[in-house]
Amino acid sequence: MSQIVRVALNRPLRRLFDYTAADGLALLPGQRVRVPFGPRSTTGLVVETGVTPPENITLRPVTEALEPWPALPRETMDLLSWASGYYQHPLGECLFMALPPALRKGRASRVADEDSFWTATDTASDTALPGNARKQRELLAMLQRANAPLPWSHLRQHGFSKAQRQTLCDRGLIRETAATEKKPEKTGEPTATLPMLTDAQQKAMDALPPRPGFSASLLYGITGSGKTELYLYYLGRELSDQGQALVLVPEINLTPQTVARFRRYLGDRVVAWHSALNDRQRHETWLRVRHGEPVILIGTRSAVLLPFTGLEAIIVDEEHDSSYKQGEGFRYSARDLAVFRARQNHCPVILGSATPSLESLQNVASGKYQQVNLTQRVGDAKPPQIRLLDIRSRPISGGLSRPAMEAIRATLAAGQQVLVYINRRGFAPVLMCFDCGHIAECPHCDTRLTYHRRDRALRCHHCDYQQPAFSHCPKCTGEACQPVGQGTEQTEDVLASHFPDSPVLRIDRDSTQRKGSIQSILERVNSGKPCILVGTQMVAKGHDFPNVTLVVVVNADGGLFSVDFRAPEQMVQTLLQVSGRAGRGRRPGQVLIQTCHSDHPLLTVIAQGNYLAIAQQLLSEREQGRLPPYQAMAVLRAEAPDMERSLTFLEDVRELLPGEGLELWGPLPATIARKAGRHRAQLILQSPRRGRLNQALRQLCLRLDDYRLPTGLRWLVDVDPLETG
Ligand code: ADP
Ligand code: ZN
Repeated sequence: MSQIVRVALNRPLRRLFDYTAADGLALLPGQRVRVPFGPRSTTGLVVETGVTPPENITLRPVTEALEPWPALPRETMDLLSWASGYYQHPLGECLFMALPPALRKGRASRVADEDSFWTATDTASDTALPGNARKQRELLAMLQRANAPLPWSHLRQHGFSKAQRQTLCDRGLIRETAATEKKPEKTGEPTATLPMLTDAQQKAMDALPPRPGFSASLLYGITGSGKTELYLYYLGRELSDQGQALVLVPEINLTPQTVARFRRYLGDRVVAWHSALNDRQRHETWLRVRHGEPVILIGTRSAVLLPFTGLEAIIVDEEHDSSYKQGEGFRYSARDLAVFRARQNHCPVILGSATPSLESLQNVASGKYQQVNLTQRVGDAKPPQIRLLDIRSRPISGGLSRPAMEAIRATLAAGQQVLVYINRRGFAPVLMCFDCGHIAECPHCDTRLTYHRRDRALRCHHCDYQQPAFSHCPKCTGEACQPVGQGTEQTEDVLASHFPDSPVLRIDRDSTQRKGSIQSILERVNSGKPCILVGTQMVAKGHDFPNVTLVVVVNADGGLFSVDFRAPEQMVQTLLQVSGRAGRGRRPGQVLIQTCHSDHPLLTVIAQGNYLAIAQQLLSEREQGRLPPYQAMAVLRAEAPDMERSLTFLEDVRELLPGEGLELWGPLPATIARKAGRHRAQLILQSPRRGRLNQALRQLCLRLDDYRLPTGLRWLVDVDPLETG
């Protein structure tokens, strides 16, 4: 009797599909198959084999297996099954996220045949081959002799057949590889040795638990304390020659310099994974990971989903960074999945940050993680001195007060560099008519348009809308239209005219869109010559600019009065991270924070620079407010062509939910109630018990799948949401 397999498809469906597998087609969980689906066929992933046949249903057969081995190993299947249940996202879509684009589409796991490259595996030996397999033996020997991978076209000319190649491959003696890959033993050695650890680093190093065995360590290392060196040492200390390691970094921190630095110390087994890779590079790197090569993979968020089979250590740098949470579709947290993976693999995970998330600090408090401290800067560098600069009723030009300008002048005159941090792109936030007060708004969103002076455009930062800026007011036809407020472009202009002898370099999403432009800016900064960096979020993170001695924060007040409960935490983290860019070299750093609320308690503690003390305060506020991390939270969002529909739907959902053990807030319109023409509302679900919330959500999602949704309405669940506004 043919066996029955249960298959997941890459569809937003909370169900799996059963097929029969012909005799002789032995399928394994994780294997890719082609299956009929409706009138067409599609790619599927086997989830379960040996399924008991449902009664009275004729199943269709699996068309073929796409490769003889599971594309997703057991460990990746387990990880994603768990994540699917935790984040309430359909299993099929979760599993397919772990495949490179070509494999999702059902293409061969081989890249292209004629110019595919082949190499002997590190452990290959011909003793495993039967005595009469002469050609196979020759092919293996040829690949073992070659000091670089050989293209198939070359091997074919030597009279080898695809069948011989396939057999060797199936036996794990040879494998396909990237054309550019060099044989590790020839060029893989590190080219530099690490600097001696400082005493503080050595102490932290000794406190980090060794492999094997699961451990989760929160490395609280202040900015400039040399966390990266610690990671490098730790990997050097713990990794075996066959082991794999995963280093997660925020998107912005993964520069070619970072990768080069890791390569210099750890050799060619260091490979990168980020959003700028093309499909082919993704495919090749994915294969190396899947084939169990001993890579040290340094990557952004989605790297946590790769099919590792031999992880020996995981590091999450800047663990508080919000880019670890996927913002759409499968809304996973890469940091939390990293901890799950470490547990699965019985290996250590290190979460590093100068401003740890409240979640991680709470995990330390409850004994789930251990905390390791690194509270001294490398060398003689002292923590920067932070000063609040009250700018109420002070003259302001380009967002900068006179004392700030003076400090900039003095710093440049001393031959040092300045970083001006501003939280807004564009020239000025808005274009306003001074006759009638009209402010240009987005026709599709409940937001104002941002004025971009370079191309005289008004842009919506929430949808794609843009229009030319007006000089005559569209409402009163007056001619007194003026930009109001500060943006990076305006600050850049004012600085350029005040300091004509110093280059002003702007780093934001607009100025760095061209490939490589951020690199050239960073190189100029690293040259050490006096200059002024003007930037948004992008400059706040991770960069090491030893010659920056002054940081000016143009306006710190944005996060003080937000409705989002995470806003204070994020504000503190950003301000301390950006402050941490100052004085990392030999000279002391100074930070000026401009504010209209210099007596606000949050700002006064920030000025003391003690993150852990602030975090304690924020944590006790969260505890009193019964908010995460003391409660499990999820948000159910709905959007529709009108608000009535979104709100009514969420009211109905509220009725479907059990009252017991759950706390419900809303439904309420979102802060930006209309985005790209869609009206948005949300219902917040909380529970002191994670399991209770999870169970309620699971039942709800199943019911909503059979629910007749109002026309044009879409809904989604976000578990552990970062935004609730
Ligand atoms: P963090 O990430 O903790 O803010 P970095 O890892 O960027 O700090 O380190 C700050 C600077 O100190 C870097 O230039 C780094 O190369 C240097 N550094 C770190 N450890 C040492 C050491 N033991 N000896 C000399 N220089 C070090
Ligand atoms: Zn818009």
